[in-house]
Amino acid sequence: MYDWLIVGAGFAGSVLAERLASERNERVLIIDRRNHIGGNAYDRYNEDGLLIHQYGPHIFHTNSKQIFDYLSRFTEWRFYEHRVLAEVDGMLVPIPINLDTVNKLYGLNLTSEELQSWFAARAEAVPEIRTSEDVVVSAVGRELYEKFFRGYTRKQWGLDPSELDKSVTSRVPTRTNRDDRYFGDEFQFMPKHGYTRMFERMLDHPNIHIMTQTDYEDVRDIVPHRRVIYTGPIDEYFGFRFGKLPYRSLRFRHVTLEQPWYQPVAVVNYPQTNEYTRITEYKHLTGQEHARTALTYEYPSAEGDPYYPIPKPENQELFKKYERLALATPDVWFVGRLATYRYYNMDQIVGQALATFRRIGEALPVEADA
Ligand code: FAD
Ligand code: UDP
Repeated sequence: MYDWLIVGAGFAGSVLAERLASERNERVLIIDRRNHIGGNAYDRYNEDGLLIHQYGPHIFHTNSKQIFDYLSRFTEWRFYEHRVLAEVDGMLVPIPINLDTVNKLYGLNLTSEELQSWFAARAEAVPEIRTSEDVVVSAVGRELYEKFFRGYTRKQWGLDPSELDKSVTSRVPTRTNRDDRYFGDEFQFMPKHGYTRMFERMLDHPNIHIMTQTDYEDVRDIVPHRRVIYTGPIDEYFGFRFGKLPYRSLRFRHVTLEQPWYQPVAVVNYPQTNEYTRITEYKHLTGQEHARTALTYEYPSAEGDPYYPIPKPENQELFKKYERLALATPDVWFVGRLATYRYYNMDQIVGQALATFRRIGEALPVEADA
């Protein structure tokens, strides 16, 4: 008899497995329908010996010391600050848009102060910032919005930014200085030996059993267990009874080139051209030395594995219906990006899992449970 059956071995499931096994001494079976642990953060050495991220580039960043310290028990880190360039009007320029972006694109020599006025002269007054279009046109005006955001977003989401919640493009700031880092967080690192190694260490505990290539449906009635942590899509858990929750998918094209480097930074975005949104070159992220280099092209699609919940009001309403069912389902805890339908980064998922562990402690004190 397992105390917990955990569905999904990504960040949400693995953090909870580790906490329940080591802090509460409970017996855990963690399963994943894929043939590996790590969820979307899974990385592996490809056939050429290059470390790649199977599901696209994953860069760890957080402002939470607690989350950073927790993960530090399972990995050493490599200092890495993420930088991204966008190919716009045939030039490679920094994104987030900053002083150098505007100066290069328009052949100007503005100072930070002058750029503030330059933006102000172009920004559109938006009474209430509601959509992903509002966020950008109210900050930098329509022209830069068109160049950097409209096409990329339409490709990535199959929707116009005016149809998406403001939270989507709000992820990317606008700067008037020369800071060209993609993230502003206090802690920005990559796991020194990769994500998968970190997950292996997290799950390496005598109370934890792992089964990959195992679907919840296959084991739910066979494996005796007392409680469930479910980190898959919430609509699937409930048999899609209110209809399908939309998720955006991606197709990844992984290639190796017979040359040491391909592009100047880890990620180049293509907001104006091509069917793919971005190209990632992993050696910038991993620090690996190798005579060849590995790239991934990301092609957004409506079909395929669910990667992104789509933030817009009607989807949130549909999710709320499922959430009400979830709250009324005893002994099942719904955690993670797919089960809570939130466009969360890795650190936020770790935070959510640690918070869930605390709530489990309140609901099920260890003594009463014995
Ligand atoms: P997942 O990692 O999706 O894990 C859920 C697991 O459950 C999956 O492995 C799935 O196979 C399994 N599962 C589902 N249903 C079942 C079932 N019925 N039976 C068995 N198993 C099941 N975050 C960052 O912080 N930085 C980044 O740079 C970053 N880049 C990203 C790039 C891309 C392309 C994507 C898609 C996401 C990115 N993220 C990034 C977000 C990050 O991937 C997530 O925050 C995190 O992986 C979510 O963890 P999770 O455990 O909630 O879900
Ligand atoms: N975005 C854009 N152009 C860019 C970068 C981002 O339009 O060059 C928009 C796009 O809608 C994207 C969102 O901002 O989905 C969030 O970007 P982020 O890089 O955080 O996306 P993720 O890495 O999560 O796919």
